[in-house]
Amino acid sequence: MSSKVNPDERNRHQLNSGSPTETYRCDGCETVYQVAGAEQPTVLCPDCKQVATPHSDLMAKREYQIGYAKYLEARRQATAAMRRFESRDLALARGRFNDAATDFEASVCHFTAAMKEATSHSVADSCDLARKKATCLWQAVEWLGGATYASEQGDESRAARYRSDAEQQLAVASECGDLLNSDELQVTD
Ligand SMILES: [Zn+2]
Repeated sequence: MSSKVNPDERNRHQLNSGSPTETYRCDGCETVYQVAGAEQPTVLCPDCKQVATPHSDLMAKREYQIGYAKYLEARRQATAAMRRFESRDLALARGRFNDAATDFEASVCHFTAAMKEATSHSVADSCDLARKKATCLWQAVEWLGGATYASEQGDESRAARYRSDAEQQLAVASECGDLLNSDELQVTD
């Protein structure tokens, strides 16, 4: 993305030489503003009168790292839950599926926040993919928790329905491919 630099902006960059410029983006219309200086002013978008907030790939990466740690923990819980489920250790399986759902939900929140903070398309796309995959897995473990509960109640046909819904979500999740490790996220600012 190229940006026009008018003479005023060049002056401003020179006046503030040594201080970094920050990228602000309007949450309404997504217009991007470059703001120089160390202090963080309130930037009001002239087009839609919404407040623009600071954005950077680095902020996105920090958010992604938190989401990714939650995501890995959720996967670990889900794998443990699945083993319990297969060995008919239903009460323990259900607890683990619930824990996994909580962590997947948290990872989705962080990946979504990271996607909004990113300034480059490549980082935003990686965050979006992570958000999509974690959302599928979150849904899948919720349904597996439901399947476990139905089994505990002796309702095997309902359990089988839940399980087949979960398997569809798992298939969609695996089509998303692997998430980038948070270290592999290439930030541009
Ligand atoms: Zn705006």
